[in-house]
Amino acid sequence: MSIEVRHIHKQFGSFTALDDVSLAFPDGRLTALLGPSGCGKTTLLRIIAGLEHPDQGQVLLEGQDASHTHVRQRHVGFVFQHYALFKHMTVFENVAFGLRVKPRGQRPDERRIREKVMGLLELVQLDWLADRRPAALSGGQRQRIALARALAVEPRVLLLDEPFGALDAKVRKELRRWLRRLHDELHVSSIFVTHDQEEALEVADEVVIMNKGRVEQQGAPQAVYDTPETAFVYGFLGHVNLFHGRVRDGRLVTGATALDVPGLEGTADAPGTAYVRPHDIQIEPLPTAAQPPAGQGLLVNLQRAHAFGPLAQLELRREDTQEIIEVVMPSLEFDRIRAQGHQRFIARPRQARVFLN
Ligand code: ATP
Repeated sequence: MSIEVRHIHKQFGSFTALDDVSLAFPDGRLTALLGPSGCGKTTLLRIIAGLEHPDQGQVLLEGQDASHTHVRQRHVGFVFQHYALFKHMTVFENVAFGLRVKPRGQRPDERRIREKVMGLLELVQLDWLADRRPAALSGGQRQRIALARALAVEPRVLLLDEPFGALDAKVRKELRRWLRRLHDELHVSSIFVTHDQEEALEVADEVVIMNKGRVEQQGAPQAVYDTPETAFVYGFLGHVNLFHGRVRDGRLVTGATALDVPGLEGTADAPGTAYVRPHDIQIEPLPTAAQPPAGQGLLVNLQRAHAFGPLAQLELRREDTQEIIEVVMPSLEFDRIRAQGHQRFIARPRQARVFLN
């Protein structure tokens, strides 16, 4: 089912939690809502579910205005960070719960409930735990049961609020891959909230980046990572080096250097900041005391380097401002530099984006 929100505003007292949020979530997609703590992700999810009401704006489900539709009629399934499984019930009974509380007439008979629940437990690969109680499960298993329970009522939309937030890094990683596979099997339109960039980029078909109650950008993960539209998105997704300065005559004057920045146009004389990813900086060894021609790059000294597998991560200190910049390069290339004992380099951005301040 397609989901759309239009011009949503939500105020808590004098605090604006959502400020004119409009988004369309296409049918059958897995979308990640990503942003720092307090940016309004959970509030938006609750509004879509019908657990919270916006002060202004509309929620459309399958193109129909559902703003006044009761939560039960919206056909949404939820999974929250703190899996609220019923402690006194077995796994089987937990998953069966939503079916058993259906109104008479819609409630399946016992045989059908059994088939359905066992089918779902097989889907989440935990049918062998049907008779256990939640206390006897691991955190990851509880989350999978919570998901099976949400799926039991055949939701047309699945909303997941930091579903793996409480788990350790390794289990999180396994579960998010598993969620991806499950989604590929079921194709239920799903939105999951996370503040983990890697999780969003790895799992989702589409990401929505939020900040301070507003949408900063929406798009495919790779597109958003490669072409951030705002300074916030640049800084939020992955590591980035910032070169503060002034844009003048098509160059960025930063510290003692007038830097040629690829793609920098215009002759505006204004304060600006170049955002450069660590893998978009090229370095070239420079003899001690030599000065590069103007515009050729920043003079930097190697401070520290770690190589993990195929990539080396370098920390370099700018000679002019003393700021540290981070560079990532293939380990083989770095091994050559290290073998020759170089310490001083010219650093140049291969690709950058300048935002005027
Ligand atoms: P987190 O990642 O920390 O869960 P979030 O992006 O999901 O954050 P929300 O839970 O949507 O953020 O909250 C957005 C803001 O609205 C927060 O500053 C929060 O304190 C505030 N807020 C949320 N619910 C209420 C409420 N019922 N009453 C008052 N303020 C609220």
